[in-house]
Amino acid sequence: MKKEHIMNTYGRFDATFVKGSGTKVYDAQGKVYLDFVSGVAVNCLGHSHPAIAKTLADQSQTLIHVSNLYWNDKQLMLAEKLAAYSDHHQVFFSNSGSEAVETGLKLARKYGKIKGGSDKNVILYMENSFHGRTLGALAVTGQEKYQKDFMPLMQGLKAVKFNDPDDLEKKMDDTVCGVILEPIQGEGGIITVSPEFLQKARNLCDQYQALLIFDEVQCGIGRTGKLFAYENFTIQPDVICMAKGLGGGFPIGATLAKKEAAQAFVPGDHGCTFGGNPLACAVALTVLEELMEKGVLENTKQQSVYIMDQLSKLQNKYPVVQGVQGMGLMLGLGLNIEGKHLVQKCFEKGLLLVGAGEKVVRILPPLNVTQGEIDKAIAIIEAALKEL
Ligand code: PMP
Repeated sequence: MKKEHIMNTYGRFDATFVKGSGTKVYDAQGKVYLDFVSGVAVNCLGHSHPAIAKTLADQSQTLIHVSNLYWNDKQLMLAEKLAAYSDHHQVFFSNSGSEAVETGLKLARKYGKIKGGSDKNVILYMENSFHGRTLGALAVTGQEKYQKDFMPLMQGLKAVKFNDPDDLEKKMDDTVCGVILEPIQGEGGIITVSPEFLQKARNLCDQYQALLIFDEVQCGIGRTGKLFAYENFTIQPDVICMAKGLGGGFPIGATLAKKEAAQAFVPGDHGCTFGGNPLACAVALTVLEELMEKGVLENTKQQSVYIMDQLSKLQNKYPVVQGVQGMGLMLGLGLNIEGKHLVQKCFEKGLLLVGAGEKVVRILPPLNVTQGEIDKAIAIIEAALKEL
């Protein structure tokens, strides 16, 4: 198969996948890999989960798409479920993480306009963050390497040092309409927000009538062992951006908001042709059912304890391993060398992992991973570490 017709935007590994089942994926030559990337936190139930396959088959024979000029039953059911689980009131559906973020940014701008007029339009974002590649999401992605060739970006933004409450306080004023952050920075290197920083962000957003927006695109949907990442902390955001795991591999994005924030949007303010289509919403309902009612979230917590323990043992044995970061099954192995060396060695030995930041290797197995699969992955990581 020719590769020249695909735009050259990714540094790819030399494997073409043709089949997947559970935690395994198979390349065109039949080589099997243990997938601890999960489509970068997407395949939360593994590959080709029977419940997802069945929902896709059933719903595709019932109703695939209708315009948002009309209501559809699966969109209503999913919105009701997400609202009930999250303690947020309304949802806007889209197709991806970037779109979920764009929606959050637009909502903050509209909310700001209502609260303080057109000068209340500044959005604070974090250094070292990642929110997506579309121009708005890219503008709040605080890493020069992603932004530098695409200037000028959106106006009215200020970067804040992540986890520095004083810097946040310094940059906050009446012109701010929103603050966006990842509870756990994913692409930036599995860095968890500090409770002090979050409390400060909540207080300042309340004081200045700005929306606190959590990007849970990567850390949400059970990754941390809780359905929403914010449940690991004592405060709540006004807006939650979700995607990736919500569809278990089928594209869907969602932006949830508290009632007062959500009501800033009126007909004509925002839209998305495919957002909330019955096929994607039916799959997301199945994912939520598996997580919440079929024990997958429970499994995430149990396997998290086990894998963290195993990774800590590697840390004690191999000086190249500096530490274990993250929560639940959103984990990072901190190294004293570039992460890509370990990722490449594991790839050759049949384990898929992905880098984060420079010296961190991300470990994102499906949330229904078994202890036996973790043992196999740890054995491969150990064999690779021996060769580094
Ligand atoms: N936000 C976060 C935290 C992400 O990790 C990502 C993707 N890695 C995005 C947004 C963008 O999502 P998408 O690629 O679906 O647009």
